[in-house]
Amino acid sequence: MKMLIGMVCTLVTLNVYAHTETLEKTKLNFFPTELGFADQVPTGFLKVVGGTLSGFPKNSSEKQKVLDSYSIIEAVMNSNEFKERVINFKSSDGKRSYSSNRGMSNEQVYEYLMQGKELVGGESNQGEMNFDVRRYYRGWSKVIGYTNPGKSNTISVNGRFYSRYKITQITSNLVHEWIHLNGFLHDSAKDHDSVPYAVGYIAEELAEKFVSQGYLD
Ligand SMILES: [Zn+2]
Repeated sequence: MKMLIGMVCTLVTLNVYAHTETLEKTKLNFFPTELGFADQVPTGFLKVVGGTLSGFPKNSSEKQKVLDSYSIIEAVMNSNEFKERVINFKSSDGKRSYSSNRGMSNEQVYEYLMQGKELVGGESNQGEMNFDVRRYYRGWSKVIGYTNPGKSNTISVNGRFYSRYKITQITSNLVHEWIHLNGFLHDSAKDHDSVPYAVGYIAEELAEKFVSQGYLD
């Protein structure tokens, strides 16, 4: 009985802190670049500093895809196109703002993200995207990945998805999860206008563009 209570508590704790996703595609809309909203905002620069990778099968292509995604994440996040899209993002109700934005304008969201200030330890290593990746496998689960914002910088990823994901999908998911590590959350997987989802989608589109043409503006 004691053990059972312990197990129930563990499950509850996980439900409170774990952030789970089911990424489905949604159509992105933007205000025109020509309106110049991004022009007053300095362009940031982030370096991906990947930490520990754990739980991957030996010599797995999954692990290599994660490592290879780091240079794509950098190319995407540091591009002018990323800056323009993040700042010009138009939500489904036609406003130039995100939901679950911690009270920030689109400009502030961009500037905040480009500081590289994770809730855990981000203050001391700004300008870097710091995170560890822990791989697990749960074949029946719809969860692609989850984080424990403010508790650690570990991104847990489900091998069910990562084993068959394209590198651009991994890029998108890691960006989504890393945004959680910066304290941006979302309601449900339907909260498409939230910072983690919307910017994650932006990252995926730009990753595809980068992979196909070899550069981003
Ligand atoms: Zn999420």
